[in-house]
Amino acid sequence: MSERIEIESNVMDDRHTSGYLEIKVFNPADKTRTALKKLAIWWGLSILSILIPVFHFVLVPLFFFLGFFFARKGYMSEGQVLSGQTACPHCGTEIKVGKGELNWPVTEICQSCARVVRMEKKEA
Ligand SMILES: [Zn+2]
Repeated sequence: MSERIEIESNVMDDRHTSGYLEIKVFNPADKTRTALKKLAIWWGLSILSILIPVFHFVLVPLFFFLGFFFARKGYMSEGQVLSGQTACPHCGTEIKVGKGELNWPVTEICQSCARVVRMEKKEA
């Protein structure tokens, strides 16, 4: 169910390198499932923290709110990045992209020069 897409990386200047990302694009059912899962985790924590004396005044509403926040974020997410590879446009070091939520532009920090490498979908 994953697909491989071509990307173009930059470090906020006119140098570009190419690479690819292996992604899984969510359909609406996936999005709802992801959102509900996050809601369940955070609201579960919220309910558990009712048992913690004093802190529950803070933790219960906090986790309740975080539930909404992450559920929304999960729902807005287009999918998931499974893996990927590109080269740093600044120093040329190979950059491996780890698993994460797919939100354009995908960013990764270069391990060699610490620059934030932005990856954007290559226009066909
Ligand atoms: Zn670099």
